[in-house]
Amino acid sequence: MLIELNKELKKSIELLREIGKEYLRPLGIEADRSSQAIPVDHPFYNLVAQTGFMARGIGSTFESGNSEKSTNGRSNNGNSVRNVLMAEEGSYWDRGTLVSLPGPGLGGPPVMQMGTSQQRERFMSIFKQRDKPLWAAFAMTEPEAGSDVAKINTRAIKSEKGWILNGEKMFSSNSSRAEWVVVFATIDPNLGRRGHRAFVVEKGTPGFDISRIEQKMGIKAYETASFKLADCVVDFDNLLGGESYYSSTSKSGFEGAMSTFNATRPIVAAMGVGIARAAYDIAKEFVLNEVPKNSSLRLRRYREKLQVMQAKLTHAKLLCLRAAWLLDCNKPNGFEASMAKLYAPPASLSVVTEASNIVGLENKDKSIYLQKLARDVKAIDIVEGTQQIQRRVVARNIIVN
Ligand SMILES: Cc1cc2nc3c(=O)[nH]c(=O)nc-3n(C[C@H](O)[C@H](O)[C@H](O)COP(=O)(O)OP(=O)(O)OC[C@H]3O[C@@H](n4cnc5c(N)ncnc54)[C@H](O)[C@@H]3O)c2cc1C
Repeated sequence: MLIELNKELKKSIELLREIGKEYLRPLGIEADRSSQAIPVDHPFYNLVAQTGFMARGIGSTFESGNSEKSTNGRSNNGNSVRNVLMAEEGSYWDRGTLVSLPGPGLGGPPVMQMGTSQQRERFMSIFKQRDKPLWAAFAMTEPEAGSDVAKINTRAIKSEKGWILNGEKMFSSNSSRAEWVVVFATIDPNLGRRGHRAFVVEKGTPGFDISRIEQKMGIKAYETASFKLADCVVDFDNLLGGESYYSSTSKSGFEGAMSTFNATRPIVAAMGVGIARAAYDIAKEFVLNEVPKNSSLRLRRYREKLQVMQAKLTHAKLLCLRAAWLLDCNKPNGFEASMAKLYAPPASLSVVTEASNIVGLENKDKSIYLQKLARDVKAIDIVEGTQQIQRRVVARNIIVN
């Protein structure tokens, strides 16, 4: 695997670094202090929209500007490595603010992966406009279906008026401010995975009601919400991929969701690496500048710790890049995506913990910020499938019955 960053990507990362320093981190710290998400009308979001970033996607996981699918029907368009690198850099500055940014977010991948060309154009092109910030979201998780997505119970019934959706979704990030949400539902729970369908539910559709904003331990800059669907009628055209997508024996809504995860897991894993790199830099700066030079034993111990932390970060990042690179090559990457998501979150958590151990309480500001990073990094282990679930996927690939 040879990854060379082209000029455009280098420029994007540099720009993100500047935005990160000036906006992402200060806004994330303020959200953490106040325990409030960044408000929808914050001027920074207008700036993001005006600069065209909603379509280019600094926070989004898929570039929305290009609605063409690649020849084999997959839609990564060579962007997966870019998305991993941008996610890592953005999360270095603040993962909460990064996820809060306007754009298609986690709603983008299923539209790009499963949608028809008309649907991709219809739902993604809104992010090309620059006059106001817009969001989209993804909703799979339900009160009784988190890790085991096959158990989703939101019902979709076809009627003359369209598809009628009934059910409850939870932990859907940015759905409280989204123009549309991709909702996974089942036409018949007895069909298991084969019954899954993905619908785009648009803002203001009667019967679609946000019921709760979650109180999170960290990553406070964005809202994660629960919502109810009560006789919510969506157009036939809002069934992602159309009926033909699901009638093919090789495809189902479940498989669509899984291939979405293969794209998003390396990105989420890279976010953990970004958070942990921020902690590593704080610890390194502390060791270089604040530990007395005559404490040779202490310095040696810290240097060894920093070396182990650095190795973990490098290892985790390479796993993310490998999974993304395979996707960019249109090769299967489910195993590698799960491997990255299995390794990076606990490795990132351990780096943040070790940074806290090094700094201790000797530098109050650094210590307070490290506490925030420890709260932020925990969620990385949960979203897009927990460590235990990734272990199952990896094990299944190693031991084939
Ligand atoms: C901040 C945040 C943002 C999120 N954003 C979104 C979003 O935008 N859209 C969305 O749809 N969802 C979202 N989620 C939900 C997330 O995907 C789920 O929380 C996750 O899939 C775990 O599901 P659960 O919380 O129901 O835990 P459970 O599935 O109840 O799991 C509880 C524990 O049991 C373990 N476990 C479960 N099953 C097994 C098994 N078979 N073998 C071994 N261990 C097992 C799990 O690993 C976990 O440790 C978000 C969650 C968080 C925290």
